[in-house]
Amino acid sequence: MQTIQRHKTVPVSIDHVVVGGNAPVVVQSMTNTDTADVVRTVKQVAELAKAGSELVRITVNNMESAEAVPEIRERLDKMNCSVPLVGDFHFNGHKLLTAVPECAQALAKFRINPGNVGRGLKRDEQFASMIEFACRYDKAVRIGVNWGSLDQELLASMLDDNAKLAKPRDLLAVQHDALIESALGSAQKAESYGLAHDKIIISCKLSGVQGLIHAYRDLASRCDYPLHLGLTEAGMGSKGIVASTAALSVLLQEGIGDTIRISLTPEPGAPREKEVVVGQEILQSMGLRSFTPQVVACPGCGRTSSEYFQHLAEDIQSYLRHQMPVWKSDYPGVESMSVAVMGCVVNGPGESKHANIGISLPGNGEKPVAPVYEDGEKTVTLKGEHIAEEFQVLVNQYVERTYSPKV
Ligand code: SF4
Repeated sequence: MQTIQRHKTVPVSIDHVVVGGNAPVVVQSMTNTDTADVVRTVKQVAELAKAGSELVRITVNNMESAEAVPEIRERLDKMNCSVPLVGDFHFNGHKLLTAVPECAQALAKFRINPGNVGRGLKRDEQFASMIEFACRYDKAVRIGVNWGSLDQELLASMLDDNAKLAKPRDLLAVQHDALIESALGSAQKAESYGLAHDKIIISCKLSGVQGLIHAYRDLASRCDYPLHLGLTEAGMGSKGIVASTAALSVLLQEGIGDTIRISLTPEPGAPREKEVVVGQEILQSMGLRSFTPQVVACPGCGRTSSEYFQHLAEDIQSYLRHQMPVWKSDYPGVESMSVAVMGCVVNGPGESKHANIGISLPGNGEKPVAPVYEDGEKTVTLKGEHIAEEFQVLVNQYVERTYSPKV
């Protein structure tokens, strides 16, 4: 198998989580609760962490939310949820940290958007003040540039310079340079204010796939700060998932990216954890990390006798994910297990043989039996009304037998 050569970056510690260096690519997420609502925010952070988010960002946009942060941290600690919290600041971060230093203390990292720090002369002063807090409390900082809130003064000055060239470049090219300059120039400034090189992470988010790939390739060629990847405003449903996957896969394949966040817009009422699951699935599909056993299922076709096998595939996938919090500690290595659920015997046995454990359900006109394969060998043939339940028992037995720690 082709191995991916990771772009070299310096490791940055965010409490107990390391981003960059040789650390595995970290999955992170962001809450959408009002941070001042401590109960709802704690609940959502805990849910995201339970789903596998290794860092969780919360917005800190006003005094009430800044005051809530220490209590959020305290309550999470009491629940044994140690996920590091990242504070997302815009415009008034310097004021909030000055007024509520306990907020700075409780956070593990600050996200600063150089386009939203302030205007005119105040900009540098306010940015310097945020960096001072990071230095004083020994916190990491993400310089998070966003296409939608690009530093307009920087862009205007770069456009002026461009206009003076004999052959001015097009607007998009100048905007691209302004994004990169905003990120790297701000990081340089942060270092000049005393922030250590290994306390800085960079992101440059765009909502277009090609623009994002271009920006990150450029960043990676020009710095060794760890890079936070994410397509901003990715969108809802399959569009958001596909666009994020397309952009991130290209970059990850080139070894670019040390932490990822999938910015999905959840459908009303849908769980926020979906963005964590998608992030994990991108990394696992690419062979970069393993989080949960994967189900290989065929798409079904005219040979599939009913929706039975679709339900079985879905039930098994959600059962495996549900079991993972316990299995992770009891059965090391189980996260790389593969389970095949196939709709008939055309490809079923072959695919089952490649999986750790697999089942082929009977297709149209086939004998109503379901052969099961374990480690490439046919072990049993299930039949009757309770194939699903019996297969689940077999999966459990396989896990216990294969992944129990050797004594
Ligand atoms: S394995 Fe069988 S049911 Fe599934 S897609 Fe292939 S032919 Fe159709």
